[in-house]
Amino acid sequence: MAKIIVFNNDTDRMETYYRGEDEPMPYNANGTLRVREFRGSSNSTTLWTTKRTMQVWNSQRYIFGNPIPVGFAFKRPWEGGHGSQSQHYAGVAFDVGQRLSNNQRNQLRQSAIYSGLWSYVEPAALTPTWVHFDKRFRKSCLWNCWIYAIKARKC
Ligand SMILES: [Zn+2]
Repeated sequence: MAKIIVFNNDTDRMETYYRGEDEPMPYNANGTLRVREFRGSSNSTTLWTTKRTMQVWNSQRYIFGNPIPVGFAFKRPWEGGHGSQSQHYAGVAFDVGQRLSNNQRNQLRQSAIYSGLWSYVEPAALTPTWVHFDKRFRKSCLWNCWIYAIKARKC
């Protein structure tokens, strides 16, 4: 059972959910993103994300039209990562498509870029064997507070 803290962008409030590993994430549509997929290899008892991130995932999944295998999404600061890792700490980033063929992965990356849904899609040159996309808060105070809260809690 995971505790999931969701920042609701519509109400500016934090919401707390408790979900089993095989259950869908809060705000996920049609069971396309399970808790265990979102957590990847993280063993944190608390996971963080935002309502907007979950909604954008739903739209991306719909646009792509096929299952999107998720390698990693949430990570704690000491659980490693790559260049855009702080987005993973906040639970607003996905590393996906590790198990897809090169061709499928390129299609997914193009889909993410052309959808206009994401704040950032990492170029193929930086992430040749996966696709990173995230829905970051753009350099706002809220973003800094969010990261600070996650680091301070050590949860
Ligand atoms: Zn990433």
